[in-house]
This record gives sequence, structure tokens and C-alpha cells, in this order.
Amino acid sequence: MTLFAEAAALDAADPLAAKRAEFDLDPAVAYFDGNSLGAPPRHVAGRVATVVREQWGGRLIRSWTDAWWDAPERVGERIAPLVGAAPGQVVVADSTSVDLFKVLVAAVRANAARSEILLDAATFPTDGYLTDQVARLTGHAVRRVPVAELPAACGEQTAVVLANHVDYVTGRLHDMSAVTRAAHSAGAAVVWDLCHSVGAIEVRLDEHDVDYAVGCTYKFLNGGPGSPAFVYVARRHQEWFDQPLAGWAGHADPFAMEAGYRAGAGISRARAGTPDVLSLLALDAALDVWADVDLALLRTKGLALGDFFLRCLDELLPGADVPTPRDHARSHQISVRVPDARRIMAALHDRGVLGDFRPPDVLRFGLAPLYTSYAEVLRAATTLAALT
Ligand SMILES: *Cc1c(COP(=O)(O)O)cnc(C)c1O
Repeated sequence: MTLFAEAAALDAADPLAAKRAEFDLDPAVAYFDGNSLGAPPRHVAGRVATVVREQWGGRLIRSWTDAWWDAPERVGERIAPLVGAAPGQVVVADSTSVDLFKVLVAAVRANAARSEILLDAATFPTDGYLTDQVARLTGHAVRRVPVAELPAACGEQTAVVLANHVDYVTGRLHDMSAVTRAAHSAGAAVVWDLCHSVGAIEVRLDEHDVDYAVGCTYKFLNGGPGSPAFVYVARRHQEWFDQPLAGWAGHADPFAMEAGYRAGAGISRARAGTPDVLSLLALDAALDVWADVDLALLRTKGLALGDFFLRCLDELLPGADVPTPRDHARSHQISVRVPDARRIMAALHDRGVLGDFRPPDVLRFGLAPLYTSYAEVLRAATTLAALT
């Protein structure tokens, strides 16, 4: 079978094909950046317009009590099943960067006698910058360790371990269970950054006994540019969750306007200030597409898209330098190292293949199982082969 026939057969047999129709995709473009900015489900624009017209315009200030004030917790509960969290542990607020700061400080405060924070050596930069700042504030040392070596590195001085569930450059999926268990047996807490796994693979925070997690909603969850992030705090830590951005929205009784801070009950204390309602409700609408998605099927398709991408590369671009694991220890992303990667990605964009470039030499192709087709994967590989 030719690759072309194979792509057609795989698309015809795709059990998630109907989901693709829920997205407004430009047929002239093959989109491979859903791991950076997810595509909008078709109904989102109308829902946001309704919020503006009816809630903001019609109900005005009354919408805070009607629909808005509790939306961070309500939308958090919609994300919870996607990360394997029982109710009451996820809230949507602020950005991943801001949430990382809150969670790291709270986690360090809860383990104050220890002196170091272990950090994923290949972390997305913002996590590293913030960890360094937290360490400056709290007097901790930061030790950068490759994720595979984190379990052995945890020791009696480790207060917190912060790792990315998926490496944002290579797409490698890390072992949440092994790192979490090792951290716990050393008496440390663990913070997982789920930006590249939520909405791509099934995450099981409760099952792995994870302490804290944060994640983006504008990547595989398609919440829209700058949609607010989510925070997970395991129920057992909530009573002690002492986060530094203690704004009025996390207060036990925000509208009592008390002079002193009293932390709110449960996960609500992870909130800081007024929620960004329009972004939050765009996310709320975007989450509708997940209602009937079987996450095991999503995973199977994402891996199959990646396998097909790799087979296309083997045939069309033999010897390509692919840092993404060929086995299935990966999320839904294929990376290719090429000389002059920035120029190659610009040329791919000119030809309607939208991936992205990460310095110094990596082309990233995100595969969003809800809407990426096998025909698009073949188009990406064919276009890339013609350019290199
Ligand atoms: C995208 C991403 C972020 C982004 O953080 P923001 O505060 O939303 O800019 C953080 N961490 C990881 C691992 C990411 O992939």
C-alpha cells in the first residue's frame, strides 16, 4: 500500500473522525500546533458572543452571582476527570507561571525544614525561572536533574520535586509513578507540570498520589489564547495549602471585605484575584467537546498518528534526526532536528503546514487526536521531505 492509500484507510477507520467536524479547520492548512495553541471548537465563538451579549450586557453586575464568581471551581471540576482527580481538587485561575509560583511556595512552606528543590533539568523555561525566584525568597537551593535521574536524586534535604510530565522539545513522556513514589519515599512532595499532557493523554493524579499539579488550558484543551490555567492540590494538602498570592478571591468570605486574610475552604484558596471571565467561559465552552471522548481511544489515536508520522519520515526522509521516542513513551508530538530549522519551519508555514520551531534546531509537529488527520500527517512529511 502506498502511504497515500494508507493515510486514506487510517482516516476512514478513525473512530474520532466525527470530532474533527466539531472544529473549524481551514482546509488549506494542516495544523500541527495544537500542542501550543489548540484550534477552536466551532461553537465557541457563538457562546462567547452570548456571554458578552446576555451575561455582560443583559445581566450586568448580577452575572457575578448568577454565573461568574464560582466559574473557576465549576470549570475546574470539568477538567478534573481529564487529569484523574476526584472532585474538589482542581480550580482554574491565573496562568501556569503564576500557579507554579503559588504551588511551589506552598509546597516548600509545608516542608520547611528541608533545604533544596529538585528541578527537571530540561524543564520549560518558565518553571525554571520561577523555581529560581522561589528559591531566592525561601533560601532554598535548586538542583537541576534530568527527570530519569530524579528518583535517585531525591534525598533527605529534598523539599519539593518539580517536573514536566512531557518534555516540550522532544515530546518524551516521563514516568509520573516512579518520580512521585521516589519523592514520597524521601519525604518530599512533587509538583507536576501537565501543560503538554492534559488533553493529550490520560493523566491519573489521584491514582499516583500526586501532591500538586498545574497545567495550561490553551494547548490540547483548546481553551483559546491565554485561557487560564488549572491548579490541582491533593485534598490531603488543602488544609495546609499556604500560598503566597493570597488575594481576596481566595478568601474564606470575599464579600465580607475583612481586613485580614482567612484562606478559603478547600481548593478555592488557590485563587488570587478576579477571574478573567471571558477567557474562562471560552474555555468552559471548549470543554464541551470532551464530554463523550474516550481517553483511551484518544491516546491510541495520538500514538497511531505519531507512528504513521515516523513511518512517513522513514520512507520519505530516511535517516531523519528524530529526538522523539519511537517507543510509546511520548505524548502526541513528533520533533525533527534539521540544520537551519527556523528557515525550514518558515517554509513549511508558506506551504500551509503549521508546526513550530524551538531553538536551536528542532521542528515540532503537534498531533491533536481530536482533529489531526492521517492525510495531514502525510502532507507534513511530504512537504518537509521536499524542503530538506
Ligand atoms: C506552555 C507551557 C507553560 C506556559 O506557561 P504560561 O504561564 O501559560 O505562559 C508552562 N510550562 C510548560 C511545560 C509549558 O509547556
